[in-house]
Amino acid sequence: MDDVVCSGCSLLCDDVSAEVSGKSVSSLGLCKLGHTHLEKVVMLKSESIEKKLEKAVDILLNAKNLLIYGWTHTTDEEVQEGLKLAEMTNGHFSSSTNLGPWQAMLHSIHSEGLAIDLEYVRNNGEFIIYWGSDPSESLHRHSSRFAVLPRGQKIPEGVESRTIGVVDVRKTETMKMANHRLIIPAGADAELLDVILSELEGKSVVKDKVLGIPGSELIGFVNGLRKSDCTVIFYGSGVINSGKYDSNLSGISKLIKAIRKTGKEAYALPMFVEPNTMGVIKAISQEEDDALQRMASGEFDVALIVSDDVLANLPNIAAKALARMQTVYVGLSGGFTDTKAKVSIHTNDPITAGLGTMTRVDMKEISFKKWKTRKEHSTIRDVLLKMQDIIRGKKA
Ligand code: SF4
Repeated sequence: MDDVVCSGCSLLCDDVSAEVSGKSVSSLGLCKLGHTHLEKVVMLKSESIEKKLEKAVDILLNAKNLLIYGWTHTTDEEVQEGLKLAEMTNGHFSSSTNLGPWQAMLHSIHSEGLAIDLEYVRNNGEFIIYWGSDPSESLHRHSSRFAVLPRGQKIPEGVESRTIGVVDVRKTETMKMANHRLIIPAGADAELLDVILSELEGKSVVKDKVLGIPGSELIGFVNGLRKSDCTVIFYGSGVINSGKYDSNLSGISKLIKAIRKTGKEAYALPMFVEPNTMGVIKAISQEEDDALQRMASGEFDVALIVSDDVLANLPNIAAKALARMQTVYVGLSGGFTDTKAKVSIHTNDPITAGLGTMTRVDMKEISFKKWKTRKEHSTIRDVLLKMQDIIRGKKA
Protein backbone atom coordinates (compact mmCIF):
# COMPACT_ATOMS: atom_id res chain seq x y z
CA MET A 1 0.00 0.00 0.00
CA ASP A 2 1.13 3.56 -0.66
CA ASP A 3 0.77 6.51 1.68
CA VAL A 4 -1.83 8.96 0.36
CA VAL A 5 -3.56 12.14 1.49
CA CYS A 6 -7.35 12.02 1.43
CA SER A 7 -9.18 14.92 -0.20
CA GLY A 8 -12.61 13.72 0.92
CA CYS A 9 -13.14 16.50 3.47
CA SER A 10 -11.38 19.39 5.19
CA LEU A 11 -9.46 17.09 7.56
CA LEU A 12 -7.19 16.07 4.65
CA CYS A 13 -6.10 12.92 6.49
CA ASP A 14 -2.41 12.29 5.80
CA ASP A 15 -2.05 9.15 7.93
CA VAL A 16 -3.77 6.82 5.48
CA SER A 17 -2.74 4.50 2.66
CA ALA A 18 -4.32 2.90 -0.38
CA GLU A 19 -3.77 0.46 -3.19
CA VAL A 20 -5.47 -0.04 -6.53
CA SER A 21 -5.32 -3.36 -8.28
CA GLY A 22 -7.44 -3.67 -11.41
CA LYS A 23 -10.93 -2.67 -10.36
CA SER A 24 -10.34 -3.27 -6.68
CA VAL A 25 -9.48 -0.43 -4.31
CA SER A 26 -8.16 -1.17 -0.82
CA SER A 27 -7.45 1.44 1.81
CA LEU A 28 -6.15 1.64 5.33
CA GLY A 29 -7.31 4.33 7.72
CA LEU A 30 -9.75 6.03 5.35
CA CYS A 31 -13.27 6.54 6.67
CA LYS A 32 -16.26 5.37 4.63
CA LEU A 33 -16.62 8.80 3.04
CA GLY A 34 -12.93 8.90 2.08
CA HIS A 35 -12.95 5.35 0.70
CA THR A 36 -16.05 6.06 -1.42
CA HIS A 37 -14.40 9.23 -2.73
CA LEU A 38 -11.24 7.28 -3.59
CA GLU A 39 -13.19 4.53 -5.35
CA LYS A 40 -14.96 7.15 -7.45
CA VAL A 41 -11.85 9.02 -8.52
CA VAL A 42 -9.67 6.02 -9.35
CA MET A 43 -12.31 4.65 -11.70
CA LEU A 44 -12.61 7.84 -13.80
CA LYS A 45 -12.10 7.32 -17.51
CA SER A 46 -9.55 9.55 -19.22
CA GLU A 47 -10.69 11.71 -22.13
CA SER A 48 -9.19 14.02 -24.71
CA ILE A 49 -9.72 17.63 -23.70
CA GLU A 50 -8.05 19.64 -26.47
CA LYS A 51 -11.19 20.43 -28.54
CA LYS A 52 -13.19 21.15 -25.43
CA LEU A 53 -10.55 23.58 -24.23
CA GLU A 54 -10.80 25.68 -27.42
CA LYS A 55 -14.59 25.75 -27.18
CA ALA A 56 -14.50 26.63 -23.48
CA VAL A 57 -12.07 29.50 -23.98
CA ASP A 58 -14.23 30.92 -26.80
CA ILE A 59 -17.21 30.95 -24.44
CA LEU A 60 -15.20 32.68 -21.72
CA LEU A 61 -13.76 35.29 -24.08
CA ASN A 62 -17.18 36.10 -25.56
CA ALA A 63 -18.71 36.75 -22.16
CA LYS A 64 -20.02 40.23 -21.43
CA ASN A 65 -19.82 39.59 -17.71
CA LEU A 66 -17.94 36.51 -16.61
CA LEU A 67 -18.16 34.82 -13.22
CA ILE A 68 -15.41 32.42 -12.16
CA TYR A 69 -16.80 30.39 -9.28
CA GLY A 70 -16.41 27.26 -7.13
CA TRP A 71 -12.89 26.25 -6.01
CA THR A 72 -13.33 24.50 -2.66
CA HIS A 73 -12.12 21.19 -4.13
CA THR A 74 -9.04 22.67 -5.80
CA THR A 75 -5.51 22.92 -4.46
CA ASP A 76 -3.94 26.18 -3.29
CA GLU A 77 -1.86 26.23 -6.49
CA GLU A 78 -4.98 25.82 -8.64
CA VAL A 79 -6.67 28.73 -6.87
CA GLN A 80 -3.67 30.89 -7.80
CA GLU A 81 -4.03 29.89 -11.47
CA GLY A 82 -7.75 30.68 -11.23
CA LEU A 83 -6.98 34.17 -9.97
CA LYS A 84 -4.60 34.67 -12.91
CA LEU A 85 -7.27 33.46 -15.34
CA ALA A 86 -9.78 35.90 -13.82
CA GLU A 87 -7.33 38.72 -14.43
CA MET A 88 -6.74 37.68 -18.06
CA THR A 89 -10.47 37.42 -18.81
CA ASN A 90 -11.75 40.31 -16.67
CA GLY A 91 -13.84 37.73 -14.84
CA HIS A 92 -15.19 38.15 -11.33
CA PHE A 93 -13.46 35.56 -9.10
CA SER A 94 -15.61 34.25 -6.31
CA SER A 95 -16.04 30.95 -4.50
CA SER A 96 -18.53 28.67 -2.79
CA THR A 97 -16.94 29.72 0.51
CA ASN A 98 -19.29 32.70 0.37
CA LEU A 99 -22.12 30.38 1.44
CA GLY A 100 -21.16 30.94 5.10
CA PRO A 101 -17.52 30.06 5.82
CA TRP A 102 -16.02 33.17 4.25
CA GLN A 103 -18.34 35.49 6.20
CA ALA A 104 -17.53 33.58 9.40
CA MET A 105 -13.79 33.94 8.80
CA LEU A 106 -14.17 37.72 8.51
CA HIS A 107 -15.65 37.80 12.03
CA SER A 108 -13.37 39.14 14.76
CA ILE A 109 -13.43 35.72 16.47
CA HIS A 110 -10.72 34.72 14.00
CA SER A 111 -8.41 37.65 14.73
CA GLU A 112 -8.44 37.32 18.49
CA GLY A 113 -6.08 34.37 18.87
CA LEU A 114 -8.89 32.00 19.77
CA ALA A 115 -7.90 29.25 17.35
CA ILE A 116 -5.45 26.37 17.75
CA ASP A 117 -4.45 23.43 15.60
CA LEU A 118 -6.05 20.00 15.79
CA GLU A 119 -2.91 18.32 17.14
CA TYR A 120 -3.10 20.70 20.13
CA VAL A 121 -6.72 19.65 20.62
CA ARG A 122 -5.69 15.98 20.58
CA ASN A 123 -3.03 16.61 23.24
CA ASN A 124 -4.91 19.06 25.46
CA GLY A 125 -8.61 19.30 24.67
CA GLU A 126 -10.54 18.29 27.78
CA PHE A 127 -14.08 19.65 27.30
CA ILE A 128 -14.94 19.24 23.60
CA ILE A 129 -18.10 20.99 22.47
CA TYR A 130 -19.67 20.40 19.07
CA TRP A 131 -21.94 23.40 18.59
CA GLY A 132 -24.18 23.20 15.52
CA SER A 133 -21.78 20.68 14.03
CA ASP A 134 -22.02 16.93 13.60
CA PRO A 135 -18.74 15.25 12.61
CA SER A 136 -20.48 11.90 12.17
CA GLU A 137 -22.17 13.35 9.07
CA SER A 138 -19.32 14.95 7.22
CA LEU A 139 -15.96 15.00 9.04
CA HIS A 140 -15.98 11.35 10.03
CA ARG A 141 -12.52 11.09 11.59
CA HIS A 142 -12.69 14.38 13.51
CA SER A 143 -13.61 12.72 16.77
CA SER A 144 -11.52 9.54 16.37
CA ARG A 145 -8.37 11.24 15.11
CA PHE A 146 -8.32 14.49 17.05
CA ALA A 147 -11.05 15.50 19.45
CA VAL A 148 -12.72 12.66 21.33
CA LEU A 149 -11.14 9.20 21.23
CA PRO A 150 -7.36 9.62 20.98
CA ARG A 151 -4.98 9.82 23.90
CA GLY A 152 -2.89 12.99 24.11
CA GLN A 153 -0.09 14.42 26.23
CA LYS A 154 -2.50 15.77 28.84
CA ILE A 155 -5.25 13.33 27.95
CA PRO A 156 -3.79 10.01 29.11
CA GLU A 157 -6.95 7.94 28.82
CA GLY A 158 -8.41 9.36 25.63
CA VAL A 159 -12.19 9.58 25.75
CA GLU A 160 -12.20 8.70 29.47
CA SER A 161 -10.21 11.88 30.15
CA ARG A 162 -12.48 14.12 28.10
CA THR A 163 -15.97 15.56 28.52
CA ILE A 164 -18.09 15.86 25.37
CA GLY A 165 -20.89 18.36 24.88
CA VAL A 166 -23.19 18.71 21.87
CA VAL A 167 -25.47 21.67 21.23
CA ASP A 168 -27.83 21.28 18.29
CA VAL A 169 -31.40 21.78 17.16
CA ARG A 170 -32.04 18.03 16.88
CA LYS A 171 -30.69 14.72 18.14
CA THR A 172 -27.51 13.86 16.23
CA GLU A 173 -25.33 10.77 15.97
CA THR A 174 -22.54 12.58 17.80
CA MET A 175 -24.89 13.16 20.74
CA LYS A 176 -24.80 9.40 21.41
CA MET A 177 -21.26 9.72 22.79
CA ALA A 178 -21.81 13.04 24.57
CA ASN A 179 -21.91 13.65 28.33
CA HIS A 180 -23.94 16.83 27.83
CA ARG A 181 -26.67 17.11 25.19
CA LEU A 182 -28.39 20.46 24.74
CA ILE A 183 -31.19 20.54 22.16
CA ILE A 184 -32.34 24.09 21.46
CA PRO A 185 -34.90 25.76 19.17
CA ALA A 186 -33.49 26.88 15.80
CA GLY A 187 -31.90 30.33 16.02
CA ALA A 188 -31.60 30.32 19.83
CA ASP A 189 -27.79 29.89 19.95
CA ALA A 190 -26.96 33.48 20.97
CA GLU A 191 -29.62 33.41 23.68
CA LEU A 192 -28.23 30.17 25.11
CA LEU A 193 -24.68 31.53 24.96
CA ASP A 194 -25.84 34.58 27.00
CA VAL A 195 -27.38 32.34 29.65
CA ILE A 196 -24.27 30.12 29.86
CA LEU A 197 -22.06 33.21 30.13
CA SER A 198 -24.15 34.72 32.95
CA GLU A 199 -24.21 31.43 34.83
CA LEU A 200 -20.44 31.02 34.39
CA GLU A 201 -19.97 34.52 35.79
CA GLY A 202 -21.84 33.45 38.91
CA LYS A 203 -25.11 35.29 38.27
CA SER A 204 -27.19 32.15 38.93
CA VAL A 205 -29.72 32.89 36.22
CA VAL A 206 -30.65 29.24 35.61
CA LYS A 207 -33.55 28.18 37.83
CA ASP A 208 -35.97 26.10 35.82
CA LYS A 209 -36.10 25.21 32.13
CA VAL A 210 -34.17 27.48 29.73
CA LEU A 211 -35.07 27.23 26.02
CA GLY A 212 -36.60 23.84 26.78
CA ILE A 213 -33.42 22.56 28.48
CA PRO A 214 -33.84 21.39 32.09
CA GLY A 215 -32.00 23.73 34.50
CA SER A 216 -29.98 20.85 36.02
CA GLU A 217 -28.71 19.87 32.55
CA LEU A 218 -27.55 23.42 31.84
CA ILE A 219 -25.88 23.83 35.24
CA GLY A 220 -24.05 20.53 34.63
CA PHE A 221 -22.79 21.92 31.29
CA VAL A 222 -21.54 25.13 32.97
CA ASN A 223 -19.84 23.10 35.72
CA GLY A 224 -18.10 21.16 32.93
CA LEU A 225 -16.73 24.45 31.60
CA ARG A 226 -15.54 25.43 35.10
CA LYS A 227 -13.74 22.12 35.66
CA SER A 228 -12.05 21.83 32.25
CA ASP A 229 -8.46 23.04 31.87
CA CYS A 230 -8.86 23.27 28.10
CA THR A 231 -12.24 23.81 26.41
CA VAL A 232 -12.60 23.71 22.63
CA ILE A 233 -15.79 24.76 20.84
CA PHE A 234 -16.14 23.35 17.33
CA TYR A 235 -18.80 25.42 15.61
CA GLY A 236 -20.46 24.34 12.39
CA SER A 237 -23.14 25.14 9.86
CA GLY A 238 -25.82 25.39 12.56
CA VAL A 239 -23.98 28.43 13.91
CA ILE A 240 -22.97 30.11 10.67
CA ASN A 241 -25.94 29.35 8.42
CA SER A 242 -28.75 30.23 10.81
CA GLY A 243 -28.93 33.84 9.57
CA LYS A 244 -27.46 34.98 12.89
CA TYR A 245 -23.82 34.05 12.43
CA ASP A 246 -22.60 37.45 13.64
CA SER A 247 -24.32 37.35 17.04
CA ASN A 248 -23.63 33.60 17.40
CA LEU A 249 -19.90 33.99 16.82
CA SER A 250 -19.78 37.07 19.07
CA GLY A 251 -21.46 34.98 21.79
CA ILE A 252 -18.91 32.17 21.41
CA SER A 253 -16.07 34.69 21.47
CA LYS A 254 -17.41 36.27 24.70
CA LEU A 255 -17.79 32.86 26.32
CA ILE A 256 -14.22 31.88 25.45
CA LYS A 257 -12.86 35.13 26.85
CA ALA A 258 -14.86 34.63 30.05
CA ILE A 259 -13.44 31.10 30.47
CA ARG A 260 -9.94 32.45 29.92
CA LYS A 261 -10.50 35.05 32.63
CA THR A 262 -10.83 32.17 35.07
CA GLY A 263 -7.29 31.10 34.18
CA LYS A 264 -8.32 28.18 31.97
CA GLU A 265 -7.62 27.63 28.26
CA ALA A 266 -10.43 27.92 25.71
CA TYR A 267 -10.54 27.99 21.92
CA ALA A 268 -12.99 28.09 19.01
CA LEU A 269 -12.50 26.27 15.73
CA PRO A 270 -14.75 26.02 12.66
CA MET A 271 -16.03 22.75 11.17
CA PHE A 272 -16.14 23.68 7.48
CA VAL A 273 -16.56 20.56 5.39
CA GLU A 274 -15.30 21.12 1.84
CA PRO A 275 -11.64 20.10 1.54
CA ASN A 276 -9.95 23.39 0.68
CA THR A 277 -12.34 25.97 2.11
CA MET A 278 -9.49 27.50 4.12
CA GLY A 279 -7.08 27.61 1.18
CA VAL A 280 -9.59 29.55 -0.89
CA ILE A 281 -10.40 31.97 1.93
CA LYS A 282 -6.67 32.59 2.48
CA ALA A 283 -6.19 33.38 -1.20
CA ILE A 284 -9.07 35.84 -1.55
CA SER A 285 -8.25 39.18 -0.07
CA GLN A 286 -11.39 41.16 -0.84
CA GLU A 287 -13.44 42.36 2.12
CA GLU A 288 -16.75 42.26 0.28
CA ASP A 289 -18.08 39.71 -2.17
CA ASP A 290 -21.52 40.30 -3.58
CA ALA A 291 -21.26 37.54 -6.23
CA LEU A 292 -24.37 35.74 -4.98
CA GLN A 293 -26.56 38.85 -5.18
CA ARG A 294 -25.11 39.70 -8.59
CA MET A 295 -25.70 36.13 -9.75
CA ALA A 296 -29.29 36.19 -8.50
CA SER A 297 -29.99 39.50 -10.25
CA GLY A 298 -28.82 38.03 -13.57
CA GLU A 299 -25.78 40.26 -13.91
CA PHE A 300 -23.45 37.54 -15.23
CA ASP A 301 -24.04 35.93 -18.62
CA VAL A 302 -21.30 33.28 -18.49
CA ALA A 303 -19.81 31.26 -15.63
CA LEU A 304 -16.72 29.12 -15.36
CA ILE A 305 -17.42 26.72 -12.51
CA VAL A 306 -14.40 24.97 -11.10
CA SER A 307 -14.58 21.78 -9.02
CA ASP A 308 -17.80 22.34 -7.05
CA ASP A 309 -21.29 21.07 -7.85
CA VAL A 310 -22.64 24.53 -7.16
CA LEU A 311 -26.04 23.96 -8.80
CA ALA A 312 -26.75 21.41 -6.07
CA ASN A 313 -25.75 23.73 -3.25
CA LEU A 314 -26.54 27.34 -4.13
CA PRO A 315 -29.61 29.08 -2.68
CA ASN A 316 -32.56 28.54 -5.02
CA ILE A 317 -32.64 32.02 -6.54
CA ALA A 318 -28.90 31.99 -7.37
CA ALA A 319 -29.08 28.40 -8.69
CA LYS A 320 -31.95 29.35 -11.03
CA ALA A 321 -29.97 32.34 -12.32
CA LEU A 322 -26.90 30.14 -12.84
CA ALA A 323 -28.96 27.55 -14.73
CA ARG A 324 -29.93 30.32 -17.20
CA MET A 325 -26.29 31.25 -17.87
CA GLN A 326 -23.85 29.63 -20.29
CA THR A 327 -21.53 27.55 -18.13
CA VAL A 328 -18.19 25.86 -18.53
CA TYR A 329 -17.40 23.25 -15.89
CA VAL A 330 -13.93 22.00 -14.95
CA GLY A 331 -13.63 19.23 -12.36
CA LEU A 332 -14.55 15.66 -11.49
CA SER A 333 -17.27 14.14 -13.62
CA GLY A 334 -20.74 13.82 -12.13
CA GLY A 335 -23.28 16.12 -10.55
CA PHE A 336 -25.84 18.69 -11.79
CA THR A 337 -23.32 21.38 -12.65
CA ASP A 338 -21.35 18.99 -14.85
CA THR A 339 -24.50 17.72 -16.60
CA LYS A 340 -25.93 21.17 -17.28
CA ALA A 341 -22.70 22.78 -18.51
CA LYS A 342 -22.31 23.77 -22.15
CA VAL A 343 -18.75 22.45 -22.00
CA SER A 344 -17.46 20.08 -19.32
CA ILE A 345 -13.79 19.30 -18.93
CA HIS A 346 -13.18 16.38 -16.60
CA THR A 347 -10.11 16.22 -14.45
CA ASN A 348 -8.21 14.17 -11.93
CA ASP A 349 -8.50 14.59 -8.17
CA PRO A 350 -5.56 15.61 -5.94
CA ILE A 351 -5.73 12.30 -4.05
CA THR A 352 -4.82 10.39 -7.22
CA ALA A 353 -2.78 13.12 -8.89
CA GLY A 354 -0.65 13.33 -5.73
CA LEU A 355 0.22 16.94 -6.47
CA GLY A 356 -0.28 20.30 -4.78
CA THR A 357 -1.28 21.56 -1.36
CA MET A 358 -4.58 22.16 0.41
CA THR A 359 -5.19 23.98 3.68
CA ARG A 360 -6.75 21.93 6.47
CA VAL A 361 -9.69 23.34 8.43
CA ASP A 362 -7.30 24.52 11.17
CA MET A 363 -5.15 26.38 8.60
CA LYS A 364 -2.38 23.78 8.49
CA GLU A 365 -1.02 23.25 4.99
CA ILE A 366 -1.11 19.63 3.83
CA SER A 367 0.78 18.52 0.70
CA PHE A 368 -0.51 15.64 -1.37
CA LYS A 369 1.79 12.62 -1.59
CA LYS A 370 3.09 11.37 -4.89
CA TRP A 371 1.27 8.21 -5.82
CA LYS A 372 2.25 5.91 -8.65
CA THR A 373 -1.28 5.21 -9.78
CA ARG A 374 -3.66 6.81 -12.28
CA LYS A 375 -1.80 9.79 -13.71
CA GLU A 376 -3.43 9.85 -17.15
CA HIS A 377 -5.97 12.56 -16.35
CA SER A 378 -5.24 16.27 -16.50
CA THR A 379 -5.40 18.11 -13.20
CA ILE A 380 -7.43 21.29 -12.82
CA ARG A 381 -4.13 23.17 -12.80
CA ASP A 382 -3.19 21.63 -16.21
CA VAL A 383 -6.54 22.78 -17.62
CA LEU A 384 -6.22 26.31 -16.23
CA LEU A 385 -2.66 26.66 -17.58
CA LYS A 386 -3.77 25.46 -21.02
CA MET A 387 -6.67 27.92 -20.98
CA GLN A 388 -4.24 30.72 -20.16
CA ASP A 389 -1.98 29.65 -23.07
CA ILE A 390 -4.87 29.62 -25.54
CA ILE A 391 -5.99 33.06 -24.38
CA ARG A 392 -2.45 34.44 -24.75
CA GLY A 393 -2.34 32.95 -28.25
CA LYS A 394 -5.67 34.51 -29.21
CA LYS A 395 -4.68 37.90 -27.84
CA ALA A 396 -1.22 37.93 -29.47
S1 SF4 B 1 -12.17 12.18 7.56
FE1 SF4 B 1 -12.22 13.25 5.63
S2 SF4 B 1 -10.07 13.41 4.97
FE2 SF4 B 1 -10.19 11.85 6.62
S3 SF4 B 1 -10.41 9.90 5.55
FE3 SF4 B 1 -12.48 10.63 5.99
S4 SF4 B 1 -13.10 11.83 4.17
FE4 SF4 B 1 -10.89 11.52 4.09
